[in-house]
Amino acid sequence: MQRLSLTRPDDWHLHLRDGAVLHDAVPHSARQFARAAIMPNLQPPVTTVADALGYRARILAALPAGLAFEPLMVLYLTDGTAVEEIRRAAEEPRVLGWKLYPAGATTHSAAGVRDLARLYPVLAAMERHGVPLLVHGEVADPGVDIFDREKVFVDRHLSPMVAHFPELRIVLEHVTTREGVQFVWDSGPRIAATLTAHHLLYNRNALLAGGVRPHFYCLPVLKREHHRQALLEAATSGNPKFFLGTDSAPHPRRQKESAVGCAGCYTAPAALELYAAAFEAAGALDRLEAFASFHGADFYGLPRNRERIVMERRPWSVPERLPFGDQEAIPLLAGQTLEWRCAGMA
Ligand SMILES: [Zn+2]
Repeated sequence: MQRLSLTRPDDWHLHLRDGAVLHDAVPHSARQFARAAIMPNLQPPVTTVADALGYRARILAALPAGLAFEPLMVLYLTDGTAVEEIRRAAEEPRVLGWKLYPAGATTHSAAGVRDLARLYPVLAAMERHGVPLLVHGEVADPGVDIFDREKVFVDRHLSPMVAHFPELRIVLEHVTTREGVQFVWDSGPRIAATLTAHHLLYNRNALLAGGVRPHFYCLPVLKREHHRQALLEAATSGNPKFFLGTDSAPHPRRQKESAVGCAGCYTAPAALELYAAAFEAAGALDRLEAFASFHGADFYGLPRNRERIVMERRPWSVPERLPFGDQEAIPLLAGQTLEWRCAGMA
């Protein structure tokens, strides 16, 4: 196959950052994706509908003319989130849902939730108003090994939450383990998961073998090969509970290549191309469209996109570096060759 035409996809998990770098980050996503779920872990975090709409306007101001792109805003749950704000979010179509970051789990999560039990009245309001919950599914407990933090979160927190709120729609974001995938697989239709391209393509050797490779460092961290196989099986299974979310998360190069490097892989500049590589390696290119363009929209009850995007087998090199405000950012696989390339809208 040399050419692939698919319904324009959506990215159900994206970090665009804020300020001057929006002009560098937004076009990469808008070139491919019609819509994206915009993560709220700015400093300070996006905790109200008013904050989210302000952020959305800044994103749209950075959108190049001629590109259609709809940011769907995600709000940040804190210990202080008011039930009233949940209702307000439910009435705002530009807000997609709320994100749960356990405090300390990842980049800019210090304001996240410390005590999940105290969040239950807020979750009850979300269930009542039909507002989805997007979850960073890792415990931040320093006593738990970093490679086990997702599994422990699923057992300790997600499983009871799902049992307690049977009507609440929950997305286990960037699922990375066999156990996480299995949980989603075994749960009802209200429980779904996003999968990143980098977790489909790489295991933890990419991060650690032959030297520490900071551009492969993300949270949840890359796992063992048998976990990657489980993710790939889920993504290519056709099961509508699994869909595309890049978790593209740019940082200035200096903050990645550092004694304490930040978590996040910058995949937006080659997002769909990376997924195509993963699906092709699994012999499942014919399943890419449903995963990238249908399942997420269906889960969120939004219309599927109508435009089409064309991909061609035309090997190209990922740029070595990209402008990022007054600094630079290094995309995943910088300088390496990818087989598939987005050729534009059909
Ligand atoms: Zn993320």
